[in-house]
Amino acid sequence: MNQKSFDAIVIGAGSVGLPIAYYLTLEGLKVLVLDSESSAGQGQNKAAIGGARATHSDPAKITLCLQSLEFFSTFEKKTGISLGWVPGGYCFPVYREAEEQTLTCIIPTQKSYGLEIDWVGPERIKELVPGINENGLRGGTFSPGDGQVSPLKVAAAFWKESKNRGCEYRFSEPVTGLIKKAGRIAGVKTARGIYHSNVVVNAAGAAGTEIGRMAGIEIPVIPDSHEGGISAPMERFFDPLIVDLRPGPEAKTKNFYFGQNDRGQVIFCYTPITPIVGTNRENLSEFMPIIARRLIDLIPRLKNMLIRRTWRGLYPMTPDGTIILDEVREVRGFYLAVGMCGQGFMLGPGVGSNMASFIVHGKPIIPQEVWSSVSFYRDFYAGRKEALK
Ligand SMILES: Cc1cc2nc3c(=O)[nH]c(=O)nc-3n(C[C@H](O)[C@H](O)[C@H](O)COP(=O)(O)OP(=O)(O)OC[C@H]3O[C@@H](n4cnc5c(N)ncnc54)[C@H](O)[C@@H]3O)c2cc1C
Repeated sequence: MNQKSFDAIVIGAGSVGLPIAYYLTLEGLKVLVLDSESSAGQGQNKAAIGGARATHSDPAKITLCLQSLEFFSTFEKKTGISLGWVPGGYCFPVYREAEEQTLTCIIPTQKSYGLEIDWVGPERIKELVPGINENGLRGGTFSPGDGQVSPLKVAAAFWKESKNRGCEYRFSEPVTGLIKKAGRIAGVKTARGIYHSNVVVNAAGAAGTEIGRMAGIEIPVIPDSHEGGISAPMERFFDPLIVDLRPGPEAKTKNFYFGQNDRGQVIFCYTPITPIVGTNRENLSEFMPIIARRLIDLIPRLKNMLIRRTWRGLYPMTPDGTIILDEVREVRGFYLAVGMCGQGFMLGPGVGSNMASFIVHGKPIIPQEVWSSVSFYRDFYAGRKEALK
């Protein structure tokens, strides 16, 4: 039975656990990462289509993702390691007044937090997305600093860079229990060992609630499922990641989004109108017919696209759609980086550097008033109560 001590233990080598471990090693800490899967980034991280944007309405997501984008866009220049970065921005084409209002009214907030974004006319949208359906096109938003990255290349890079700095990884070794002493965290248990530390980070994604219960706390992370797909490579004809906010004509889908990755493959996903709550990851037969119609309606030339494969993965959702980054007051030293919803991959580096600063220096990098909005102690149902008034 293993018995070792570490400065910090991270549960989960996923979209946020890997960068947290990397930034903790940069702070000089001796770190252990445990994961049930057999290698890095094999949880929901590899289900992500790699969209990376700071184009959000929530200040915490804007500021954290701006830091992630800085990391994604400069990493290759600094290290020579490719992350599959496609610097094409994000484009939200608009066909209806409702979406025009939704998007234009958040631009001032987005700009106030440093996001480069503007409303552009239909001619500019047609340049950005050649072959887009022009019928009723009103214009849209374009944020040139956003882009696309490969989730598996990013996971491999964080794993390798942190390992080079002394981080220890134990794969195929799920955490089965937490050790507490006098109201503090003292370590974790697995079937193969007991690992001691005064700092344990719950970065277990869709299993975040399960890990919380091991410490006697209830974390509201409820997974729901989403499908994605990818085509065969084709000559690049558009650079931005495209988001169509309209509901689909078949009354099953909200927005859908897609991009062309660094190998020319079109990678795509949609949001179901009724969330499919649970952890089932078997593909649904309705996904391809629905998304194919939506893609071809928006860009008719995609009708000849060859699909390689589809998959279904999980969004670790919270009741208010905002992430949780905090220390648990009832169990000091037990940190939460969970509830990443549909943006955990793009949030990864920003969450990693801020959590490391919070753990080591007691304060995040982003402004404190923004950080408090991701507290575990907020009212997760405040928006809903407001709506019922
Ligand atoms: C189809 C689809 C498309 C998406 N597209 C995007 C996108 O374009 N951009 C974006 O930002 N996000 C996207 N997402 C969302 C993104 O994938 C998630 O938000 C993100 O991966 C969650 O990160 P995480 O680190 O919380 O979880 P994960 O990456 O799942 O990491 C959690 C890790 O914890 C491990 N674990 C669980 N239980 C235990 C235990 N008991 N002991 C040890 N380890 C444990 C798991 O094995 C896993 O490796 C998409 C999701 C789907 C399904």
